[in-house]
Amino acid sequence: MSASAQRDEAAPGPRAVGRPAPTRAAAALRARLRDPILRRVAAVGLLGAILAALVVALAGDREVLHGITVPTAVLLPGLALLTCLAEITVVRLRHGEAVEELSLYEAALVIDVLLLPPREALLAAAAGLVAASVVQRRPMVKAAFNLGTYTAAVSVLILIVHLAGGSPGTVTPRVLVAVVAGTFAFTAVNLCCLAQVLGLINGRPPWTVVRAEARLSAYMALGTVATGLTTTVIALHAPLLLPFMAMPALAVTYAYRAAAREADERARSACLLRLSHALAEREDVERRFLLLVREAFDAELALILPEGQDEALSVTAAEPAVVRRGAAPSWLGAARDIDGPAQLSEHVEPGVRHVVVVPVAAGGRRFGTAAFVSRTRSRMSTGDVTLLASLANALAVSLRGAQHLDRLVEETSKLQAVVEQSAEGIMVVDGDALVQMWNPALEALTRVPAAEALGRPMAQLFDVSAQQDSGSLMPVSPGTPRAAAELTIQRPDGEQRRIRMAHSASFAADGLTRDVIVISDLTREYRTERLKSDFIAMVSHELRTPLTPIVGYVDLLRKRGDRMTPQKRSEALELIGDRAAHLSRLVEDLLLASRFGDGEEIALDVSGASHDLRALVAQVVQDLGSPRVVVTAPDVPVPAYCDGGRTLQVLANLIGNGLKYSAEDATVEVTVRATEQAVYVDVRDHGRGIPADALERVFEKFYRVEDPMTMSTSGTGIGLFLARRLARAMGGDVTVVSTLDVGSAFTLSLGRPY
Ligand code: ADP
Repeated sequence: MSASAQRDEAAPGPRAVGRPAPTRAAAALRARLRDPILRRVAAVGLLGAILAALVVALAGDREVLHGITVPTAVLLPGLALLTCLAEITVVRLRHGEAVEELSLYEAALVIDVLLLPPREALLAAAAGLVAASVVQRRPMVKAAFNLGTYTAAVSVLILIVHLAGGSPGTVTPRVLVAVVAGTFAFTAVNLCCLAQVLGLINGRPPWTVVRAEARLSAYMALGTVATGLTTTVIALHAPLLLPFMAMPALAVTYAYRAAAREADERARSACLLRLSHALAEREDVERRFLLLVREAFDAELALILPEGQDEALSVTAAEPAVVRRGAAPSWLGAARDIDGPAQLSEHVEPGVRHVVVVPVAAGGRRFGTAAFVSRTRSRMSTGDVTLLASLANALAVSLRGAQHLDRLVEETSKLQAVVEQSAEGIMVVDGDALVQMWNPALEALTRVPAAEALGRPMAQLFDVSAQQDSGSLMPVSPGTPRAAAELTIQRPDGEQRRIRMAHSASFAADGLTRDVIVISDLTREYRTERLKSDFIAMVSHELRTPLTPIVGYVDLLRKRGDRMTPQKRSEALELIGDRAAHLSRLVEDLLLASRFGDGEEIALDVSGASHDLRALVAQVVQDLGSPRVVVTAPDVPVPAYCDGGRTLQVLANLIGNGLKYSAEDATVEVTVRATEQAVYVDVRDHGRGIPADALERVFEKFYRVEDPMTMSTSGTGIGLFLARRLARAMGGDVTVVSTLDVGSAFTLSLGRPY
């Protein structure tokens, strides 16, 4: 079998169509000749013409082998027909990324050259080629290129053979050598011309193309010689055997075709397997679909026009690894809206013979249109079209899946953000009450990290004290899947928190499947609430204490006042006055305290003047009237810069507390002292003392040390709060040192007057 290596890439792509107006013809021709491919086609054509002229001039109409009885007038068209048939009998073989087209054309040329005079041989070769180009509707540029190349190559073959001469009727060694040499020369010329264009298209130097193809071309040249010579000899000596000569050639052709088809199928299966992976992975799916489907169907061009867009993604045989984005081709026209697969062969551009168009749609959703331009001369088989349609459908399914996945990922990330950023704790437990989700807010609330919580039973994580109802952790049931419960938990750091768990559970026939629990921290509200109720209880108690004697004595005076001695009456009035004054102080203190928040510095209405601290202490001690107070003070006045009234209030609170929180017979020592910078009053008692962790808290509003003693001692918890704030407002302070069960020492410090 004789064959020629021919690549489709060698065929320059379709050029501008339409006939230029005669006046513009020259300009159009010049413009075309600026195209490097067209320039090479023109050069090859010129070479062919020159060599053909040389043949006509040198070899004339000498024949190489005489002895054939058929007249040239009959032989010429016969051999031209044979040449045409040989060119049409093509087997396409994949060879790496390229496709080899193997034909019997060159073998037919050898027969032409041996049996016909040079001029007629040229004619038969050219006519056969032109006829084959017309039958196969080859693009003009490609047909012209082939004609130029083969004319040049066959001219070289003719010249070599005819220069060598020959003996009539027999294939002498001289002829044999000349034919072999001529065929190799033919192959070399053909390959060099081809390399010029291939090199240009692939961006490689022509020489590398020649090197890559040389070996295959040499083998093919040998096949060409063998087939051509054998056929010629049989034609000369036993023409009746010629049909038998055709049979092995045809058999080999069909065997090749079968092998080629099988190789195609294998390559296609491999591509489709890769495609199925690509579709399943749903990543970059359109691009990978184009690359693999183009390869599987060996299409000249594969494109996808996404729905509602004007730009298409496409990949061509010339650049099989590159997907480009560009304007949709005009030949797609109305076919972009078709509902089912269609083959177009009319109204397409020159050079684009057969197009298969399939919709990319699935489940009632359309994603676009895919089109495949055939690389072969025949229409695509129905099986292939159906397969393409199914693949396009699979692409649509994959795209739809990818869209769903994207949406799902988006929704999940939104949900994730809600869970992550929620100020409330969110926990999800499964049917066995094992923790499945534990958000950051819950980590902060419970001080248990998510990594530690996940997978553990919920009851282990909430250290609910034994007194609480065990059902409060899981108050849901199939009848009440939504429920909320408040409970107090103990954190790993020992702190107690009051929480509210709002459950939203789902149940199946065999019990709980999942429970989503939103957990709010109520500790602050809970404490405030408790503080409020404690405060109300404390205030009502404190108000009632002085009110009870006032009401009692007023009642006594009303009923028996006229019968009482003046002294008794004055005592009763004094007591009423005293309790009323206490009440008024209490109310005043409460009002004052209500104006400040904890930790807030006061802008108090205090006046500053020089007062003798000794005298202020003496007045407070006298007002308190307790013999337990022992005062130590310098003999001279101790001037302090302060508000006299407010200082009396502070001292009364400190000395009063000393008396209140120590035993009935214990003394309270009050010391007035001065340094250069400041003046001080120390109030030392021998009472119960204050626990170390409460030393600073006693200055907080409403804080009272909770112990049996305070339970038995009345008080509001605002005395020290006000004392410190008043002292600070006057530029001083109140501090304390205390030892539990030994006693406390409060110190009021004030500035000296300037
Ligand atoms: P209260 O009206 O309760 O006395 P204070 O603000 O004056 O309010 O005192 C706050 C708390 O500090 C008291 O309830 C008491 O527990 C504690 N405290 C104050 N002074 C003394 C003291 N001298 N000895 C022991 N505890 C004291």
